[in-house]
Amino acid sequence: MTGTTSSTDLFSRARQVIPSGVNSPVRAFGSVGGTPPFLTSAKGALLHDADGTEYVDLVGSWGPMILGHADEQVVEAVREAAGRGLSFGAPQPGEVTLAEEVVRRIRPVEQLRLVNSGTEATMSALRVARAATGRDVIVKFAGCYHGHVDALLAEAGSGVATFAMPGSAGVTAATARDTVVLPYGDRAAVQALFAERGSEIAAIITEAAPANMGVVPPREEDGIGFNRFLSETAHAAGALLISDEVLTGFRASAEGYYGIDGPQGGADAWAPDLMTFGKVIGGGLPVGAFGGRADLMGLLAPAGPVYQAGTLSGNPLATAAGLATLAGLDQAAYRTLGSASRTLQQLVADALTTAGVPHTIQRAGTLFSVFFREAPVRSYEDAKAQDTAAFTRFFHAMLAGGVYLPPSAFEAWFVSTAHTPAVLDRIAAVLPAAAAAAA
Ligand code: PLP
Repeated sequence: MTGTTSSTDLFSRARQVIPSGVNSPVRAFGSVGGTPPFLTSAKGALLHDADGTEYVDLVGSWGPMILGHADEQVVEAVREAAGRGLSFGAPQPGEVTLAEEVVRRIRPVEQLRLVNSGTEATMSALRVARAATGRDVIVKFAGCYHGHVDALLAEAGSGVATFAMPGSAGVTAATARDTVVLPYGDRAAVQALFAERGSEIAAIITEAAPANMGVVPPREEDGIGFNRFLSETAHAAGALLISDEVLTGFRASAEGYYGIDGPQGGADAWAPDLMTFGKVIGGGLPVGAFGGRADLMGLLAPAGPVYQAGTLSGNPLATAAGLATLAGLDQAAYRTLGSASRTLQQLVADALTTAGVPHTIQRAGTLFSVFFREAPVRSYEDAKAQDTAAFTRFFHAMLAGGVYLPPSAFEAWFVSTAHTPAVLDRIAAVLPAAAAAAA
């Protein structure tokens, strides 16, 4: 396939038949400009496009490819599963094992249901929360992205942030009315809202560590982390906390971000009521999941009154890919992810400092992102105040040098266990020129 059709040709054909030529907005390079490479193959930390160009990948399909592309064990597991049938629409062993693996690794999850995307997971978690509380209002934070669920698009991060959209057209006024958006990390705003409308609130939903406005880790105040504060505030009012770990789950640490800011011993126990997952647990195939307290999950049909379903949910190929990925994520894998991301962070910081480019780099476990501004980023307002033009120059210089970054200043950079020192050296070689371009 390589060399027969260029990315330029494919993009022009795509725009005829696919809106903006893409099936997910950020892929169109709308905010950075230019033609997105059309990818034809990937292996380890490397990507290849239709023009035969090779790139070091720092997107990792936005999170799932934590073991690198086409990992042999994952590919073999999918191949083996495919030989036994592509979809049954009936219970199959792999979904039981995958649910057991998640329940075993993530303490607050007693029961889990598999779906096909993170969006479905958050949508379904909201429905359970509303049914459990008999209330309508959902609280979310500006800059947090939870997928393209109607109720959760207001002031969302990710592509909504990339294109500076306040939300989405096509969401009804009634839906928008039931969503209250607060500034991330603003405890006074949370308290004021609960004082006024606590009895109407079904749930707070938050990214466990926001990573869709860039990485903005939750902060402690008086020894109490923001997530624990949200859990206590919600519970005091009879509301629930939904912690969205679609991006951070199995990535920020082995137990996701809860493994970092959840209780480490028995003291000060707190836990989200419901959690959402995706990305890593599908190993590159379409999987999402939501789970949590067994009494809440017991509300789901057929035993309970909350309807939720899916033709392909628990698909055998997807569960095989997810299980093989989780099997590859041993302690050594997390050590590799931690050291690769720290080395890369240092390389970027050094290059930008040398070139005199204002920047700040923030981390949540093995995740990090680079903001093109000097001051720390604590909210969506801060994230928006960065120099996106400098990012765009940096991005294009990196791309020209063979490094594929997220095409947006509002995204985390994803490393994998395949980002070996030799791969990081390739990135290091491009950084000085890219930093100079950003200056
Ligand atoms: N929640 C978070 C935190 C995400 O980062 C994403 C996607 O980036 C989603 C939900 C939606 O997941 P999906 O794109 O699989 O629908």
